[in-house]
Amino acid sequence: MSKKKRSQTFTTVTLDSLSKLPPLSNDPPVATAESVAAPVPETPLAPAAPPAAVAEVQAAPAIEPPPVVVEKENSNAPPAPEPEPVAKRPSPEPVSEEEILRDAPALALLEMPEPETTPVVETAPPPKPAIPPMFVMMIASEMAPVAKVGGLGDVVYGLARELEIRGNAVEIILPKYNNMRYDHVWGLTKAYDDLWVPWFGGAIHTSVWFGFVHGRKCFFIDPHSADNFFNRGVYYGHNDDVLRFAFFCRAAMEFIHKSGKQPDVIHCHDWQTALVPVLLYEMYQHLGLRHPRVCFTIHNFRHQGVTGEQILHATGLHRPEHFFSYDRMRDNNNPRALNLMKAGIVYSNFVTTVSPRHAWEAKDGGQGDGLGHTLHTHHYKFGGVLNGLDYDYFNPETDKYIPAHYSAATLEKKYENKKALRNRFWLADNEKPIVAFIGRLDQQKGLELVRHAIFYALNNRAQFVLLGNSPERGINDHFLGLKRQLNDSPDCHLEIGYHEELAHLIYAGADLMIVPSRYEPCGLTQLISLRYGTVPVVRSVGGLADTVYDKDYSPRPLHERNGYVFDHANNAGLESALTRAIGCYYHFPDHFRQLILNGMKCDYSWNNPGQHYLNIFDYIRDK
Ligand code: ADP
Repeated sequence: MSKKKRSQTFTTVTLDSLSKLPPLSNDPPVATAESVAAPVPETPLAPAAPPAAVAEVQAAPAIEPPPVVVEKENSNAPPAPEPEPVAKRPSPEPVSEEEILRDAPALALLEMPEPETTPVVETAPPPKPAIPPMFVMMIASEMAPVAKVGGLGDVVYGLARELEIRGNAVEIILPKYNNMRYDHVWGLTKAYDDLWVPWFGGAIHTSVWFGFVHGRKCFFIDPHSADNFFNRGVYYGHNDDVLRFAFFCRAAMEFIHKSGKQPDVIHCHDWQTALVPVLLYEMYQHLGLRHPRVCFTIHNFRHQGVTGEQILHATGLHRPEHFFSYDRMRDNNNPRALNLMKAGIVYSNFVTTVSPRHAWEAKDGGQGDGLGHTLHTHHYKFGGVLNGLDYDYFNPETDKYIPAHYSAATLEKKYENKKALRNRFWLADNEKPIVAFIGRLDQQKGLELVRHAIFYALNNRAQFVLLGNSPERGINDHFLGLKRQLNDSPDCHLEIGYHEELAHLIYAGADLMIVPSRYEPCGLTQLISLRYGTVPVVRSVGGLADTVYDKDYSPRPLHERNGYVFDHANNAGLESALTRAIGCYYHFPDHFRQLILNGMKCDYSWNNPGQHYLNIFDYIRDK
């Protein structure tokens, strides 16, 4: 299929597209009495001597925010009908598209204004209404820089910050991992000491801590149980991961309920928090949590939390006959399993993934890992919003991890960072470009192409630097073997491990960044590279295709082209792009410099995506 055809089918979430959707009803299934977990003490949670900061956090958003401008407003649109009260819903089924669409034409007919018969006199459009501020509760398994494994952590921090800048109140609930970067948490205090989280018919005594992470208000869930759910020294990779994060979901909901918080929107992320909307609509809504609506963002379809019936008994949902339905949680491929990510899609009020291209890939391009059909069923509440980048944290003008600050106007200073990078890795100081790779060493990143790129670069008058690690020992060992093999090369350094600070030096010091992914929902490395004037060389997939435009072949105007792109995930594809990139560096330095400047001019900050998320939240909120 041609690129042009594809682009016509992408789903970008704009207010325009949202305003064409039918109004939401009060949403998913109504639980019956027996679905409500048994021993839930009814007393509201008493904070354990909350610090001044906590008291402030719990108050309704007090600041008068600057008005947030809605992108487009159809002043003729009929007013959205009041959502039907849940108690009146006749059926306990998840809301189907048909059900929502059924009344839409009639409403449109009834409330559309009469067609104009006299010529319309153009007047100034009415002022655009602002989106009223809201209280957003994020629930996530990662947040940068305190608990970061990959891009998910960056997104949770960056979006939370952007929403706050726009005048909304944002709080974030995270597990309290023992291996977190506690040096990034300020004022960590036990805020609630007596949360009893129902679990397998009993309850686990849990403390909730509060602390600021670079200004973000975070609550950390700390269970006191022999399971040691979050004291494992790593974030993921244990056999009981599904149980660990199911507990986290139940604890987060129990905390929201008992602390009396009433967020407008709960924003949860990936399978680890996908049980949140299930718990809300099957259980907590009937305990009084009627106000919040849920947006579920899928960062990676490859990990879905496929599990067995036990999870229902652990979390108090029970009723396997209810949940083992294809309309709810039954896995599309394994009839004996439940699928948490699928449940997140079915039960949430809106579902996003992290780029428009990937929304298409997941729903129509066979990359939804078995969830394409579910996305089709729920297509009316699904779309792609490109991730943003925290332009304050990733800023070559102020980055505290790099020795020389620079901007587009002082680009020559970037080369001091190149020198520093070479010193750090004992690389030869010569005329060659530095090609870099930073990322998780995961098959989805195209590891055989990364390996090929190392040798191809070294054989084609370039240096190569790699920073990456994998939770899989075999993969790490493979790259450690390569490192030993190339140890004597003055043009190559492979660093196996996770180093935030070093990553910044590489972004600032390298000339080219390769991202040869087989699968890439959004990708942040290319966005960070653009910001640091490091030219990305990427495979045309997911968010990479949405953000990098080929210098030679893109149909975009010259000044928008910012890198090199190849289509096929094979050596020939990679070589074609890398040859052009290295060739341009040597033979057309002016063009190369222009490419750098084009990249640095791009705006991949949270500015646009922040507005898209606000539009979505405003669309689903209980007004
Ligand atoms: P993914 O979410 O699939 O891991 P992304 O490209 O979306 O990939 O995000 C990766 C983020 O993690 C980037 O901020 C990147 O700089 C960072 N990162 C990945 N691996 C490392 C590492 N070994 N050391 C430091 N930072 C890393």
